[in-house]
Amino acid sequence: MAKLEIKKYGEPVLRKKATAVSEITEDIKKLAVDMLETMYAAPGAGLAAAQVGVSLRLCVIDVSPDQKSPLVMINPKVIAGDNEVSAKEGCLSFPGCYESVKRFGNVVAEYIDLKGKKRKIKSEEWFLSKAIQHEIDHLDAKLFIDYLSEWKRKTIEKEIKRRKKAGQW
Ligand code: ZN
Repeated sequence: MAKLEIKKYGEPVLRKKATAVSEITEDIKKLAVDMLETMYAAPGAGLAAAQVGVSLRLCVIDVSPDQKSPLVMINPKVIAGDNEVSAKEGCLSFPGCYESVKRFGNVVAEYIDLKGKKRKIKSEEWFLSKAIQHEIDHLDAKLFIDYLSEWKRKTIEKEIKRRKKAGQW
């Protein structure tokens, strides 16, 4: 296992649409394990491959308080959603930034697990639903700040610029 470096906002890989995983190789399995370790250490509730510099459709999620319910999703897709809720969220690529984003509170998503089995997850827990949508967005190069008003996004970008200059990003 190895902890990976988390790419922060500004890294081009975060704005690159990820490629589907075609085969679950040993490298993919290792990547998933390393991503989980990286996410737990951060700590965070979700991490997409792009956030560790790998442009593949793979993400890991664990919203349990004891970090014992890892979910590895390969080529995931949201197939249904309803009951929109607005709640604050953050992103490991935006340390210290939290903003309200409106997303489905209930979602159904399809994905492939590490054994290559096709799976479906139905979430009626808003925090998990939010994490699933947030991570799948990463695979499509979409970031949570894209949901904010222009004014809010600009404010965040300004703050990041300031922190970059100060060597804190
Ligand atoms: Zn994120």
